[in-house]
Amino acid sequence: MASHTCPRCNYSTSKLSSFKTHLSKRDVCEVKNQDVPIDQLRVEYNITPDKTTHQCKNCEKSYSCNSALHYHSMKCKPDPNAKILALQNIIIQKDKIINDLREKLAKYEEWVNQVPM
Ligand SMILES: [Zn+2]
Ligand SMILES: [Zn+2]
Repeated sequence: MASHTCPRCNYSTSKLSSFKTHLSKRDVCEVKNQDVPIDQLRVEYNITPDKTTHQCKNCEKSYSCNSALHYHSMKCKPDPNAKILALQNIIIQKDKIINDLREKLAKYEEWVNQVPM
């Protein structure tokens, strides 16, 4: 039976899928035998590194683990209210600017009234 042995840590398994899992772990195994770069092994076994496998469909951010992506996607879901919220924010900002200008105008009027003509 063909077995797959990790040249780094001597981990050995007959199951290719287990071996791939071993190589694709985020915590790369410790070198006990040969210091073969994990990237090289990943290329040999056609493994895409974890970080590119968990990608957000909405904003294309990628995460090194699935749970991080899951957590992100809960916040990243296209929100039907997002546009409304964005518009509300614009209105709030405009209100602030208007209030600012009103205050400035009031001060200016005060100042104008104080100046003897
Ligand atoms: Zn290993
Ligand atoms: Zn996203």
